[in-house]
Amino acid sequence: MKEITNKIQEIATRLFNEDQVDVFLAWEQTGEEYRVKPYFARSAADVSNIVFNEYCIHNLSTSLLKFRDGSDRIGLVVKGCDSRGIVRLLEDLQIKRERLYIVGVPCTGMKDPLAAARNQSGFNNKMQTIDIARKCLDCIQPNPVIYDELIGPENPPLLQGERFAKVKEIENMSADERYQYFEDVLSTCIRCYACRQVCVACDCRTCIFDEMKPQWVGRETNVTDNMMYHIVRASHMAGRCIECGECERVCPVNIPLMLINQKLIKDVNDLFGPYEAGMQYVEGAKPALSRYDEKDPDDFL
Ligand code: SF4
Ligand code: SF4
Ligand code: SF4
Repeated sequence: MKEITNKIQEIATRLFNEDQVDVFLAWEQTGEEYRVKPYFARSAADVSNIVFNEYCIHNLSTSLLKFRDGSDRIGLVVKGCDSRGIVRLLEDLQIKRERLYIVGVPCTGMKDPLAAARNQSGFNNKMQTIDIARKCLDCIQPNPVIYDELIGPENPPLLQGERFAKVKEIENMSADERYQYFEDVLSTCIRCYACRQVCVACDCRTCIFDEMKPQWVGRETNVTDNMMYHIVRASHMAGRCIECGECERVCPVNIPLMLINQKLIKDVNDLFGPYEAGMQYVEGAKPALSRYDEKDPDDFL
């Protein structure tokens, strides 16, 4: 990892010195070994603060939304999931490709900083091994899919076992059992909207859940309004979710949000595929449900 940090710092320094970027997005260390955070370097003098280690789990592509209305030229580091997020933003016309200098890092899986924090805080009775993060165990694309420069050789997918295994288990339940299952898990949602804030695909300028006139969803955290939130968000993610797992990772009450996302990914692929969101950037291409074809299935009409 130290070698990768050095290489990223070398590239960022070169980009600033050659006046190719105005800002460079990466990670910086905080006071705790296991806690890094997104970092915006503004000059070559800032570059020494950049680190890359096994806790660089955040999807940095979401940070690009802060720059969408400006003209800054942006350098940034991407793993596989971050790079798919960039494709999401390019397809959604949120940022222009020519404003980006993308440094790709093939990923071997990241560790969960929260699990490490539990160890350090004494929350666990005894120190536990910090394994690869839950979201990375389902990763089918650890390698950047779009980049200007790649650091190191590509890695195999991390996914072990059958893809969508848990989704299939739930599909096999009766309709009543499924309803009960989702009512139970979604009833614990506190509507903090962390899952929305961290999501690169949630790039609407005004979210309907923030609107007051009209107010589409009640502010209470009852199961009806919670379900409304999750159903609307799921429908907005269909064909657009790049499976980065950030929403589930940041949920403070451990709601298995990836189950919903993976069901949508599976269904969109079955109905309109083969299709995986954000796997490649083709100028002008749109997500599956943003296109219309007369042969599209319409049995539901
Ligand atoms: S989801 Fe994939 S690319 Fe992203 S951090 Fe995990 S292993 Fe790396
Ligand atoms: S992060 Fe979790 S608790 Fe917060 S709104 Fe999303 S699902 Fe609900
Ligand atoms: S819905 Fe979750 S997994 Fe999908 S893009 Fe958003 S944060 Fe990533």
